[in-house]
Amino acid sequence: MAHFLTSTLPALLRALPSTFSTFASQARRSPHNTASAFMAIIQHIPGALKARGSALVALVQNELWDPLAFACIVAWFCFQVVLERLLPGEVALGVPLLGAEGLRLPYKLNGHLAFWISLLLLVHGCPRFAVPVEDEGILPTIVGDEGDEQFVYTASAAGDAVLQHAGQAANGAIPVLGELTGFGPFPLEKLYDHFPQFAFAAVVFSFGLSLLLYLASFRKGARLADGGRSGNVMYDFYMGRELNPRLGSFDWKYFCELRPGLIGWVALNMGMLMKQQQLQAVTGEPPSWPLVLVNVFQGWYVLDALLNERAILTTMDITTDGFGFMLAFGDLAWVPFTYSLQARYLVGRPVSLSTYALAGLSAMHLVGYWIFRQANSTKDAFRRDPTSVPHVRYMDTIRGTKLMVSGWWGWARKINYTGDWLMALAWCGLCGPTHVLPYFYAIYFGILLVHRAARDDHLCSLKYGADWQKYKKEVKWLFLPGIY
Ligand code: NDP
Repeated sequence: MAHFLTSTLPALLRALPSTFSTFASQARRSPHNTASAFMAIIQHIPGALKARGSALVALVQNELWDPLAFACIVAWFCFQVVLERLLPGEVALGVPLLGAEGLRLPYKLNGHLAFWISLLLLVHGCPRFAVPVEDEGILPTIVGDEGDEQFVYTASAAGDAVLQHAGQAANGAIPVLGELTGFGPFPLEKLYDHFPQFAFAAVVFSFGLSLLLYLASFRKGARLADGGRSGNVMYDFYMGRELNPRLGSFDWKYFCELRPGLIGWVALNMGMLMKQQQLQAVTGEPPSWPLVLVNVFQGWYVLDALLNERAILTTMDITTDGFGFMLAFGDLAWVPFTYSLQARYLVGRPVSLSTYALAGLSAMHLVGYWIFRQANSTKDAFRRDPTSVPHVRYMDTIRGTKLMVSGWWGWARKINYTGDWLMALAWCGLCGPTHVLPYFYAIYFGILLVHRAARDDHLCSLKYGADWQKYKKEVKWLFLPGIY
């Protein structure tokens, strides 16, 4: 890792200026197709890697690739598939597919059940087997190094096992070696200890899945996405060729959007909390409030997405984008492993925030959530039946679908993004003001939302033509009334 940081990484960074100038000029020429500019970056990378390839291979072999971490990622994915298949759920129809004579695909809605069962399994599903006391090799405390800092902690789970053995021995009920003695939490703190290996395994998995989907998209009858059939292999692989790849009634894109990655994000956050508890076991300190609140707020955000699973059927990810590397990587690797950054940051850093700061950040989260949920639910209800929200004014369009111009959607055209971003800022704020790193999420997410808003604006101007300009005159602001 050290060689990579001191030699390979600087070489790659030296290649960045020319790469980004190509990106900027491409993006300027075609502002609504930044994806092709992004591809220009990817095409620069092989050249930059060539000279330093062996260091990178060594890094992967020695530090990143861990078969056990990969097996865990595959097992987690398969477990989520089993839940999706077996749990009961209402079946909802997606929007009519373009050019398919009104065909609407069915989707099973049981994500929130999968969420609760996953949590139950993570907290109570790990089998415990009897082991000889003398084999435990327990030290009362262990001193460990984490970067520059030193921590003292006890191996509490193993310690509990020893006490349990002692208690059982005293009662004359000594379990047989290897006998199942009960169930407990999975050792999720390992997600902290082996974070880079798990993240790398998720990247490899999403790459493999996208490759299979890309190859499968050449079969006869596959319905292709508009954005994924350029003929450029790399571009199409990245954007995704097939619109709704399915195996029977199992929809790969819909499944990946909300299940393994999002619930995996919650599991990662729990792992960070367990790691902090392990580190603080010696001093007996309780878990820190900021880390507890990050777990609660982000878990709530994920549960909300799963409870409102139906709403995803009208998003452009489902209706417009193909399922390729962009979405597979985003859903399975990027979201869980970068969105859990605040929790990871808080593990070894005792950020102490005043009660006022904690209350202020909680209020910011609540306000953000309120705006986000109200706006998205109103739009969802309005799209399904405009008469269900009679208080909302709307304008008719030549396209046939109406556009809301009052209520939340009269304040700003992307007021739902504003609420979402406020929540993001509250989560980052829980990490305190001393380091910019945990604010990465708010910065990245802000850029994503601005880009997504521009992309949607472009798509809507194509869908609605002159009516869209009329609508923009009526609802002038994009994110914040009176400001932007
Ligand atoms: P929107 O929910 O804003 O959906 C855009 C579509 O809504 C438009 O294409 C249009 O489609 C319809 N629409 C736009 N304005 C109106 C109006 N005034 N009246 C009625 N319909 C309108 O965007 P997204 O799907 O991008 O986002 C959904 C949520 O997901 C957001 O809250 C966003 O913050 C969140 N999100 C979160 C991400 C994360 O990583 N955490 C990533 C991406 C999104 P049509 O007219 O064809 O129905």
